[in-house]
Parts: sequence; C-alpha cells; structure tokens
Amino acid sequence: MAASKDYYEILGVERDADAKTIKRAFLKLARKLHPDVSNEPDAEEKFKEINEAYSVLSDEKRRANYDQFGNPDGPTGFGGDYVDMSDIFGGFGMDDLFSSFFGGMGGNSGARSVRTRGRDMGLNLHISLEEAAAGCTKTVAYDRLAPCDDCGGTGVGESGKVTTCSHCHGTGRVVTVQQTILGQMQTQTTCPECGGTGKIVEGACETCGGQGRTPSRETVQVQIPAGIHSGQSIRIKGRGEAGVRGEAAGDLVVTINVSEHEQFQRQGDDLYYVLAIDAFEAMVGTTYTIDGILANEKVDVVVPAGCQYGQRLVVSRYGMPRLHSSARGNLIVAVEVSIPTALTDEQLTLVHKLMVQRTSQAEKENQIPKAKADTKKKRPRKGHHK
Ligand code: ZN
Repeated sequence: MAASKDYYEILGVERDADAKTIKRAFLKLARKLHPDVSNEPDAEEKFKEINEAYSVLSDEKRRANYDQFGNPDGPTGFGGDYVDMSDIFGGFGMDDLFSSFFGGMGGNSGARSVRTRGRDMGLNLHISLEEAAAGCTKTVAYDRLAPCDDCGGTGVGESGKVTTCSHCHGTGRVVTVQQTILGQMQTQTTCPECGGTGKIVEGACETCGGQGRTPSRETVQVQIPAGIHSGQSIRIKGRGEAGVRGEAAGDLVVTINVSEHEQFQRQGDDLYYVLAIDAFEAMVGTTYTIDGILANEKVDVVVPAGCQYGQRLVVSRYGMPRLHSSARGNLIVAVEVSIPTALTDEQLTLVHKLMVQRTSQAEKENQIPKAKADTKKKRPRKGHHK
C-alpha cells in the first residue's frame, strides 16, 4: 500500500517543498536511477519508487489527499499503484521525451549520437466549427524537454565548465580507417567521448545531467485564424523540444481538427443546412430565421411558394469565413418537405374543399378533359405557347 511509504522521504524533500523543488529532486534521482543508466542491482525497484512518489507529489490534488489521509486517492481510495513514466506527464510523445532526456547524455551513454538541435513536436487540437468560423485563441498544455531552470539551459553546474572535447577536437566526429579487401575504407562516426556535441561538460548541472533541458509540462497560446480547415496546422517557433545546452529549439506544430457540427455541414467554405418544413409551407412559401455560424448571427431563409422537396436555397455570404480573407462561403439550405399527418376533421374538410376546387378549375381549363366533353370544342390557347 502506498500509505505505508513516505513519498517526501523517498524524494528527499521537506514536507512543505514547492512544486519546483519536488520536480528537481525527482529529476536528479531519476537520472541516477533510470534503469537505462544505472548499474545498481535494485535501480529498477528504486526507480519505480521515486516514480510513484513523484506521480503523487506532482499532482496537487493527490498530494493534498496524501497529506491529509495518507492516501493519494482520498479517505476511501485504494492505494496508489506504480504509475508508469508515460502517465506522469500524461502528454504525447513522452516515451521519446524521456528517452532523449535519460538516454542521450547519461553517464554511460557511450557512443550514442546526440541530436543537439531540438526536434519539432506535433500536437492535435480539436476546436468547434464556431471556433473555426470566428477564429480563437486556445491555451494548450503539453510536455516537452524545456530549457533547464537550474542552469538556464547551459547544462553546466554552479562550479562547472565546458571544454572542447579533446578526442574529436570539437568536431563531434571521429574518422576510423579500416583495411578491407577493397583497400582502405574511411568511416566517420560520432565521437564516443562527447556524444557528437564536440564539448565536454565538467561539473554538469545535476538537475539536467548536463543536457541543459528537462521534461516539463508547459502551456502555449495558439492563435487560430478564422476559416481554418481540419488538417491545417499552425507552427509555433521554438516551442518544440529544447536543444541540447542552448542549441536551437524545435517548433511546435499544432494540427487543427474541426469537430462535426450538429446543424451545419461544411464543404470547403460553404455550409449546408437542412430545413424541415411541411407541405403547406412549401406550397405558400415562408421565411425561417435560423442561427448563423457566427455568434448572434441571424439568417433569414426565404422559402419560395411552390418549393419542392430537396430544393436548394442559396443564402450568399453566410457560410464559413474564408481563411485570410474577408470573403465568406455560402449557406446552402436543403429543404425537406413533410406531409402533415395529424389533421383535424375540420382541416381535412378544408383540404378536401381545396382539392375539389382545384379539380373543377382544372376541368374548366380543360387540363383534365372529361370523358363526355364536347370534342369539337377547341382547347383554349391560354397558357399554351408551344
Ligand atoms: Zn541544468
């Protein structure tokens, strides 16, 4: 059970330690005890332990529960199980994030090559159709390797310094010459001493182990322009993975996903809307006022008399705003006509009267000839131009 463990003791921090101190203590221990790095036989067990401690103490609510009840899940909760590394920050790409943090520059990283420039990172962001129409600013939390707070991203500890790697003379590459049956072959490999950086840090920062960057949960403001489409992305410079020891950071690429809308269907910049009316409205015509896609926008949809089922009514410039333009697409209203079913006797009588009247009118106009009509009589020309 988690309750029997003292998480503060495990991380070696005071009970009133702030979030930054806890994170720093965790990272220092994690660097030392990560199974990829440590040779200690019980490293994995200890690593799990600090993981668990950090997963509780880095979560405000769970920490409060733990302080009050001795249990991170509250008075009735069940003990905290081992929380996997990838769950701690809960974001995307944490495997990558941690492997580049713990793997690259670790104590026994050996000849593994190091990408010094930070990588670009990708993030998906869901927004509503209304937000896509109006444009919006979203605050997004994500995890990345950020410049280390303790050394300001230099990777150098308080009494440390950076020297040029003597093995590769600062080039980061070493050339080896091999004798093969085809003759001498020169191959270039990453310098095993400095891991390809060309520099050796003496007295590295303990928090980041000399990388100059640490895993960090951060927030970023994403400005989304009006008219954006699903699949389009916004690049935020320098907010991807931080580079090693102050090298250039990668970018954060936020890909927008516009959610389906209940009323409107988007096609390009046009919006489709289904308007349900009944047969009487279709016959005499009507005007409906519907809510547009922009806030407080009202759109009058004029249904002409004699409107047919499936007829499309185009309302100009009430579709989606066009990206980087003041233009807008159209609102295309598809009319669905239903036949009223629950008519009263009185209404049915009226409809019947109307039918009889229409029939006799049609007979007068001789459009429905009677069987015994005078055949010598010519049909009136009225209305028949062809
Ligand atoms: Zn540092």
